[in-house]
Amino acid sequence: MKFKLQIKVLLCLFCFIAATSVSKGQYTPWHYWTLLPEAQMNEIIGEASGETAWKTIMETGGYTKNRRPEEYRTTFYEADYFLDKLLWYGVPGARLERLPARTELTWNGIKGELWEVSPQRQKLVSYRDNAFQLTMGSNSADVKAELVWVGSGTPGEIAGVDVAGKIAVGHGHVSLIHGNARRAGALGVVAISNSRNYIDPLQIPEGRIGDVPDPESNGRIIAGFAFQMNIREGQYLRDRLLRGERIEVHAQVETSMEPNELQNIDAIIYGEDPDATAVIFSAHIFEGLVKQGANDNKSGGAAILEVARVLNTLIEEGRIPRPKRSIRFWWGPEFSGSRPWVDMHFDEIKNAYCNINMDMVGEWLSLHNAHFGLMRTTFGNAHYVNDVLENYYRFVGEGNRERVHNRGQINKIPHRIVAPFGADEPFHYSVEMHYGSSDHVVFNDFGVRIPGVMMIAWPDLWYHTSGDLVDKADPTQLRRAVVIGAAAAYTIANADTDMAVNIAGEIAGNATRRLGHQINVAMDIVSRSNAEDMTANYKKAVWLVEAHAENEKATLRSVNELASEDDKISPHIETLVESIENIKQAHLLALESQMRMKATEFGMIAPAIVLNELEKKADAMIPELAPETYKMGQGKLTVKISDLPDAAISSYPVVTRIDRTEIARLVNGENSVLMIKKMLDAQNRDETDLQDIINFVYQLREAGVAGF
Ligand SMILES: [Zn+2]
Repeated sequence: MKFKLQIKVLLCLFCFIAATSVSKGQYTPWHYWTLLPEAQMNEIIGEASGETAWKTIMETGGYTKNRRPEEYRTTFYEADYFLDKLLWYGVPGARLERLPARTELTWNGIKGELWEVSPQRQKLVSYRDNAFQLTMGSNSADVKAELVWVGSGTPGEIAGVDVAGKIAVGHGHVSLIHGNARRAGALGVVAISNSRNYIDPLQIPEGRIGDVPDPESNGRIIAGFAFQMNIREGQYLRDRLLRGERIEVHAQVETSMEPNELQNIDAIIYGEDPDATAVIFSAHIFEGLVKQGANDNKSGGAAILEVARVLNTLIEEGRIPRPKRSIRFWWGPEFSGSRPWVDMHFDEIKNAYCNINMDMVGEWLSLHNAHFGLMRTTFGNAHYVNDVLENYYRFVGEGNRERVHNRGQINKIPHRIVAPFGADEPFHYSVEMHYGSSDHVVFNDFGVRIPGVMMIAWPDLWYHTSGDLVDKADPTQLRRAVVIGAAAAYTIANADTDMAVNIAGEIAGNATRRLGHQINVAMDIVSRSNAEDMTANYKKAVWLVEAHAENEKATLRSVNELASEDDKISPHIETLVESIENIKQAHLLALESQMRMKATEFGMIAPAIVLNELEKKADAMIPELAPETYKMGQGKLTVKISDLPDAAISSYPVVTRIDRTEIARLVNGENSVLMIKKMLDAQNRDETDLQDIINFVYQLREAGVAGF
C-alpha cells in the first residue's frame, strides 16, 4: 500500500487509538468496574477490616521489642502470633516450619546504659527506652571513660583528637564512626543519628557494627559498643562537648549471642482442585531479628493474614463460592526464609500461576507523601496478574476520588472504601515497571517462573528507622490493600473461561494505554534528535515500540492457562494479539512520519533501520530452552553458570553488567537475541551490550540451559 495511503489509513487507526487510550487522569467519572461481579466485591469490601490488620501490626511490630534469651529457644513472638491467628481463624494448612539459619548464633541486646557520672549524674542513653539506642553487634562492656567529640567521625577528624581509652561522640553513620574510632583505640561510640532530621528529629536509623579490619596488624579489632541518640537529644551532648566540657560516663553494655533459627509460617485456602494453585501470597515478617518494622514489613504480613481471614470466612460461610484453585500464603524471614520455603515445597507450588508479594503496604499515605505502587513483572515473566491487580488498584483509586463531575451526587465518592477508624483520604496509586528487593524476586527466579508482583507504598519517611511504628500505618490503607489483594487472588483462583475472556479484554485496553505511553516516549526520542544522532535514536525509538508490543502479546497469551483446554479461547487471544500488532504498526508508521519531518528539517535523507553485522547475527539467533531446565528450581541457573568450565567462560566472556536472569527468562524459542536486547533496553535506563548478551546466550548453551 502506497506510503501516503498507509499514512491515511493508519493515522485514522492512530487517532482512534489515541482517543481510546485513557491516561489515568482522563477517567470516565461515571464508569467504575471490577473483574469480579459487584455482589462478590461487596462481600470482600465489607468483610475486609483495616483495623484488624492494624491491630496485627500493633501486636507484632507496634514497637521494637527487646527479645528475651528464651525466645530464641522457642518461637519468635511474631511467628507465634501469626500462627495463632491462622489457627483461630481456621485457615487450613496453617503450620510453622523451623529451618537452620545461615549463622548458628545471632546477636541479642540485654542491657545498654550510658550514664554521665561527672560533672553531674544523669542518664544519657538507655536501651530500655528504645532498642535502637544500643546498636546491633555491640559487645558487652562495663567501663568508665571520658567522652570526646569527633565530628562526623572521619579518619581525619579522629586523628585530630585522642580517643584511645575513651568514648567517641559524633554525628553521622554509627558503623563509620565506630570503625574509625575503634581503630584509634576508642572503647565505644555514641552516634547522633541524622537520617531524616527535618521529617522527625526523634528517628534513629537502623545500625550495625562489627569487628574492624586493622591495616596495621592486618588483623581485625573486636567490635566495641555503640549507642545511638536521636538528633533532638543528641544536640545537647554535642553542644556541651563543643563548648569543651569534660564529661565522664559509665557505660554498661550486656549482649549475648543466641541460637539462630528461621521460622516460616504458611497456610492454604483449598480450591475445588486442591492440586491447582492459583496465587501464592508472600510477606516477610522478619528482616533479621533486631529490626521489627511496623510498615516494613509487619504491614504486609498483617494484610495477607487479613486476606486469608476474609477469603476463608466468605468461602466457609458460602458468601462466595469455593474457588476452582487454591490460594497459598507465606510469612517468614525476607529471602532467607522464602528461598528455602520455595525449595522445600517446590513440587507442591511449582505450577502456581503467580505470586503477590506485599512489602510495606500499611503506610498512612498522606503522612508519608506516598503513593501505593504496583510493581509489575518483567517482560520475561509477562503475566495477566499485572492487569488483574491493576483493575482493582484503579477501582479503589478512581472510586475514592471526589470528582467535580459528581458534586451533584449523594455519593460524591463513587466507591468509598474507608476504614471507620482510619484516614479519610484519596488513594494515590501508581502502576510501575518491575522493581526487585523483596521476596517476589524468589518466585520470579528463572528456575521457579512463578510471575511475582510487589504491592508497596513508597516513600516511607520512617523506613528502616526507630520511627517505623504502628502510628505510621493507616487502617484505611490496610483495608484497601486487603481488598485489592483478596479480589485479585479470588479473580484468578476462581477464573473460568468467561473470566479469562474478561481479563484478556482488560489487558487489550491497558495495553493500548501502555503502548500509547511508549509512542509518546519514542516520539520524544525522535523529536529531541539532531542530524548527528537521528539514525541511532530512530532505531532506538522503533525498537522500544517493538519491544513493548512483544511484552503485551506475551501478557495476552498468558491468559490461555486460565481457560480449560477445550474452550478454544486461544483464537480470541490471537485476535487480540493481532490488534496489538496493528497498533504497533500504526505507531511505527506515525514514528516514521515524525522522523521524516525532522529529517527534512535537518536537510538529511530519512534514515532507514539498518542492522550492523552483530545485530544481524543476533537477529538470526533464536534460542530455545532445554525442556528439562524449565522450573529446575530457584538459584539453579546461577549454579549452572558458575559451574561452567573456564574455557567456556573465556570463549564467551561477559564484560559488562547484564541482567542474566531476565535474558534467560526471555529465551522462549520465539525471541531472537536481538529482540531480547530490545526487551532489556525497553526495561532499563541504560542499554545492555549486545555482544555480552550474545555471549551469555552461548554460555546458556554451554550450560545446557538453552539451544539454538
Ligand atoms: Zn521489606
